[in-house]
Amino acid sequence: MGMRVVLGAGKAAVKRDGEGVRITLASGEHIMPDKVLFAAGRAGNTEGLGLEDVGVQVDERNRIVVDETFRTSAEWVYAAGDVIGPPALASVSMEQGRVAACYAFGIPFKETVDPIPPFGVYSVPETAMVGLTEEGAAAQGIDFEVGRGWFAGNARATISGATDGLVKLVFQREDRKLLGVHVLGDLATELVHQGQAVLNYGGTIDYFIHSTFNVPTASEAYKYAAYDGLQRLPAR
Ligand SMILES: Cc1cc2nc3c(=O)[nH]c(=O)nc-3n(C[C@H](O)[C@H](O)[C@H](O)COP(=O)(O)OP(=O)(O)OC[C@H]3O[C@@H](n4cnc5c(N)ncnc54)[C@H](O)[C@@H]3O)c2cc1C
Repeated sequence: MGMRVVLGAGKAAVKRDGEGVRITLASGEHIMPDKVLFAAGRAGNTEGLGLEDVGVQVDERNRIVVDETFRTSAEWVYAAGDVIGPPALASVSMEQGRVAACYAFGIPFKETVDPIPPFGVYSVPETAMVGLTEEGAAAQGIDFEVGRGWFAGNARATISGATDGLVKLVFQREDRKLLGVHVLGDLATELVHQGQAVLNYGGTIDYFIHSTFNVPTASEAYKYAAYDGLQRLPAR
């Protein structure tokens, strides 16, 4: 597609140059782009709300500070969502709101927000993940293995003509406990939830081996990813 991705380029200088913009990367390389998007992070739009008048503390980015019950420094004020900071996702924000409402009104339904939320990117192809990456598992010193189930070998993907992509499972070698799930391809943001359920209940990749899946479905890629993973383990 003619795209070049420059990651970790360090600090860049941006200057007007005639009608355009000139960017100088830390390496000394110059780029003359059509457009520049500068992403400086998010800040809470809390100025002028009078939070200080009621004792609600904000941080250096004007985000509201809360405890684990989503209560602010003012006993009777709760906050949830983007205004309290990362991960700033609609999915997580709504969960935070539900938990905050439970604490605020003494409703005994829900006390915590899921600590391992899934992430989805609605690009073409879609991509989604939950749990640990290979890099994350390695950084924690976990002895892990991976298994991949490619959509190229999946009947449903062949029928719908969407054969790009895969389901990748990251699991612990010793006991096959599922650590992370990564899906790339059609409906990745939907498919990831199956892996999320197994992961959140502390399951192993054996779940995908033992369960019968509807055929033909994209979900079958989980089964083949698990088989692939098993084949990478020493025979018992
Ligand atoms: C381009 C984009 C794409 C995204 N895609 C996804 C996605 O695919 N999946 C996902 O999970 N999340 C996504 N998000 C994040 C998601 O939109 C937010 O996490 C979510 O909307 C946060 O909900 P919220 O209620 O905390 O805040 P908001 O939805 O921002 O609601 C805050 C409301 O408060 C109002 N408000 C702000 N300041 C004041 C003020 N001073 N006085 C009165 N009212 C005020 C605003 O007008 C707004 O209506 C995306 C965000 C962006 C920007």
